[in-house]
Amino acid sequence: MTDPAAVPAERQGSDAARPGPPLWLLLELTYRCPLHCVFCYNPTDLSNVGRELETAEWLRVLAEARALGSVQLGLSGGEPLAREDLETIVAAAHRLGFYTNLITSGVGLTEARLAALQAAGLDHIQLSFQDSTRRMNDFLSSTRTFELKSRVAALIRKYRYPMVLNVVLHRLNIDHVEEILDMAERMGADYVELANTQYYGWAWRNRAQLLPSRAQLRRAEEATARFRERVGRRMRVFFVVPDYFEVRPKPCMSGLGRVFLGIAPDGVALPCQSARMLPGLDFPNVRAASIRSIWYDSPAFNRYRGEAWMKEPCRSCPERGRDFGGCRCQAYLLTGDAANADPVCALSPHHHLVTEAVAAAERQAGAPALAAPLAFRDYREVTRADSRADTLGRRPK
Ligand code: SF4
Ligand code: SF4
Repeated sequence: MTDPAAVPAERQGSDAARPGPPLWLLLELTYRCPLHCVFCYNPTDLSNVGRELETAEWLRVLAEARALGSVQLGLSGGEPLAREDLETIVAAAHRLGFYTNLITSGVGLTEARLAALQAAGLDHIQLSFQDSTRRMNDFLSSTRTFELKSRVAALIRKYRYPMVLNVVLHRLNIDHVEEILDMAERMGADYVELANTQYYGWAWRNRAQLLPSRAQLRRAEEATARFRERVGRRMRVFFVVPDYFEVRPKPCMSGLGRVFLGIAPDGVALPCQSARMLPGLDFPNVRAASIRSIWYDSPAFNRYRGEAWMKEPCRSCPERGRDFGGCRCQAYLLTGDAANADPVCALSPHHHLVTEAVAAAERQAGAPALAAPLAFRDYREVTRADSRADTLGRRPK
């Protein structure tokens, strides 16, 4: 079979023929982070990650991406506030006309830095919490940060930013949705994203301990519906359903290489933050190539554009233009082949891998203790061999 990477873009389907610009640019400025979240989506292995880009290199990335048509800029990590040049990067992005969004744990967001970031032109801040209780928040991040986050939330309001909270949901906190929403209301939140865990990175390692049961999920959805009814339009609540409980996959990144461009701390360009795990792809680095050539010409970005790479059942499926076969990383993690249909899809011959994981979660949900210890994000304990095991399609322990 022809290697899709070798197929010229113009022969890979209408969307591949002329991809639009990377409208959505995400700079993962650093993988450094003072927290140790059990669901962190960062890689579990940093042994092949190079040194972080210098300020001037980030500024060049911004200018080139903006010239190509990028408009929305996310600044994340790790913890982006760990970069002392964050204000410089925000100011440059603002001058170029980006809409800038800081995605932060709050650690390091002092009033002085917030004032400086606002002066630099920062448009938007998304603050993460782990739970509504200090005990669980601090346990899940293995830090004492609950009070700090609460203070940062007050600062965000003081500086008249919209209050946007993000809470990642999983078996250990999903029963607290009502309390989480009450906390958000007390803090004066405008938007709350209840994002069920996506199983990549550290969350993949902890999947058996983090997957909720269907009953938990239903209760959380009911609590969210009651809250929405009570507060009306005063506060918007997004409830992102965990795709393991669906029968069709999400249109991951709106299709790889269509709108999203991520830059890892060491300059590796990615069509999705997790894509670095995909085998056989030589992701280009902004140190060696322009954003234009990376986006339009690199084999890694063209690999999963269009439909030529698809296998059955996606290849002949009438829904392939809606979901693009789902998530390549999930297909790889679960089946060992990134070109397979995302096993979340009930039409996939591998769908049983998802339903079995959910069934195991059902059995575990009522158990008094976790089936196994949680792995907290901590790069000191990770070896390269551990990480390879994570990405070979084996079940996480
Ligand atoms: S998920 Fe937690 S550990 Fe990972 S980058 Fe975000 S705050 Fe840091
Ligand atoms: S078979 Fe493939 S294209 Fe069709 S719905 Fe499932 S994942 Fe989507």
